[in-house]
Amino acid sequence: MSETVFVVGHRNPDNDSISAAVAYANLKNVLAERACAEGEEPALVYKPVRLGPLPAESEWVLETFGFEVPELVEGAEAGQKLVLVDHNEVRQAIPGIEDAEVVEIIDHHRIADVMTANPIMYLNLPWGSTASIVTRLYKDYGVEITPEVARVLLSAILTDTVILKSPTATAVDEGLVAELAEIAGVDAVKYGVELFKKRGGEEAIEIEKFVGADAKEFQVGDKVVLIAQHETVDLEGAMAREAEARAHMNDLLQKNDYDFVLLLVTDIVAEGSQFLVEGNTELVNRVFEIECNAEGGNWMPGVLSRKKQVAAPILAG
Ligand code: MG
Ligand code: MG
Ligand code: MG
Repeated sequence: MSETVFVVGHRNPDNDSISAAVAYANLKNVLAERACAEGEEPALVYKPVRLGPLPAESEWVLETFGFEVPELVEGAEAGQKLVLVDHNEVRQAIPGIEDAEVVEIIDHHRIADVMTANPIMYLNLPWGSTASIVTRLYKDYGVEITPEVARVLLSAILTDTVILKSPTATAVDEGLVAELAEIAGVDAVKYGVELFKKRGGEEAIEIEKFVGADAKEFQVGDKVVLIAQHETVDLEGAMAREAEARAHMNDLLQKNDYDFVLLLVTDIVAEGSQFLVEGNTELVNRVFEIECNAEGGNWMPGVLSRKKQVAAPILAG
C-alpha cells in the first residue's frame, strides 16, 4: 500500500494555492512513477487538497481542462505527510500541522515559523507566484508541461501577479508566462482578464467571501491581525458593499480578538487599493502615514501586493 502525501496551500486558498498544489502533486506523481520499476507501485502518492472554498477561477480552469478539484480537508492527522505550497506560516497552515510531518515546502513568501524534525526540500524564491517555481521544477526535471498543465500554471501566475502588474512580478515570471502561453496556445493578457472575470459581479458575492476568501492572519508583536484582499475590476460596485464588509470585519475582529482587520479592495484596472480598517487603526496610520477613514476608506494608488506593499511594512512596523 502506498502512503498518501497531502499537497496543500494556505487557508482561505487563492488560485495559486490551488493550482500550485494540483500541478506540483502531478509533477511529484510523474517523478514517483518514473522512479519505479515495471509493475511496481510508488511508495508515495501525492494528493492535492485544500483548506477552504474553491476560488471561482480555479473551479473554471480545473473543470474546463480536466483536473480533479482538490478535496476539502479540515485538518491533518498526526504523522500525515505534507507538502506545503504557497505558505510557510503555522497560522496560515492546515490545522494539526504541529503533529504532522512536513516533507517539502515550495513557496514565495517571507520565511516564517514552520519547523521540521528532519532536513527537507525547502524551495523559496521571491518570484511572483508559487506556480512559477513549480513551472521551473517541471523544466528542471524534464517533465513535459502539457497544454492542460500549462493552463493551470499560467492561471496562477496571472492571478497572483495581477496579470504581471504587481510589483511582485519578476522578469522570470514574464518569461515563464510567455512560455506557458505558447504551450497553452493562448494570449496571456486575454486569458488573465478572462480569469478575473470568472469571479463574477460584486453585488452577488456573499459578504463572508468578499472579506474572507483571501484573508491571512499575521502575528505582529503580541497581537494578531487579519489582512484581507478583495481584487476587483469594478471598484464602485465593490465599494457599494462597504457597510456590510465593515460589519463583517467587526464580527471577525470580536470573534478572533484581532488588533485590527484591514481589507484591501484592490482595483486591478486602476492599479491601487482602497484600505478599509476596523479595530485599532494606529499601526496602519503610522506605517502608511494616513488617517484611516471610518467611512469611504483610503485610496492608496499603486498598491497591488498585500505581501510586498502591505504585510511587509506592517510586520516591520
Ligand atoms: Mg496565495
Ligand atoms: Mg502565491
Ligand atoms: Mg494572492
